Amino acid sequence: MADHKWRVYPLVVGEAEVPQVLDVFWSLSKDKSLVTVPILAWLLVPLNHHTEPILVDTGFRDAERCMKVHGLGPHRTKPEWTLKQQLGNHGLALDEIKTVILTHLHYDHAGGCTQLPNARFVIQHSEMQAAAAPMVSPRLEFGGGALFYDRKDIADLVDPLWPQVDLIEGDTEIAPGVKCVLFANTHTPGSQAVYVKTESGTAVILGDIARNVELNINQGIPPGLFYDLEATYRAMIRIKKEADIVLPCHDYNVVKKYADGL
Ligand SMILES: [Zn+2]
Repeated sequence: MADHKWRVYPLVVGEAEVPQVLDVFWSLSKDKSLVTVPILAWLLVPLNHHTEPILVDTGFRDAERCMKVHGLGPHRTKPEWTLKQQLGNHGLALDEIKTVILTHLHYDHAGGCTQLPNARFVIQHSEMQAAAAPMVSPRLEFGGGALFYDRKDIADLVDPLWPQVDLIEGDTEIAPGVKCVLFANTHTPGSQAVYVKTESGTAVILGDIARNVELNINQGIPPGLFYDLEATYRAMIRIKKEADIVLPCHDYNVVKKYADGL
């Protein structure tokens, strides 16, 4: 059987200033400062064109809303950071994207779905359920009363995009060489990583299961936002074992390193 390999390109679809504490389990960090991070989506292009390209994540809906609704720091967009422009750099139009994998449904990953009229959206069933009715205290002053799920994104997915939504249960091969792997109750209840076969080995797109490769994966210190601490510890260990290249969604280093594709 042919060995199907892919090229992976980071797409910058926005930028945000977020607390450093998101990177590291809270009790281990004294650093309360803000850091500037990119909001990334990813384009998977099949080598030898054995199938169609795949988009992973879609960025946020609009910067103003991130600050107002979710109570977060500055978020920025630029004309060259739109999904349309970022795909255009690779010769693709929005309506040419047929498959989108959503690592999870937070506002900065699931905010661009309505721009993709012909895509099916591959989402873990448990993530869709959690996003529709998140467990959260109404007193929490950030997260928009829905723990960083944007009600508008979820409403769009439930209707009108529902016919395009493809709910999966657990680990699922999406195309030869591309697999979704469920890491339940880590960053979110239904967070999934995307395992991609490349010429440099298995690349793992993390979503936000981990944020800082050195701290979270190499040193095994969980990130600051998680559901189940033990599940998150196990995820760090498993990803370290299984990934040849680890790709977090909020790290400018990977943008620099893999600007020309991985
Ligand atoms: Zn994120």
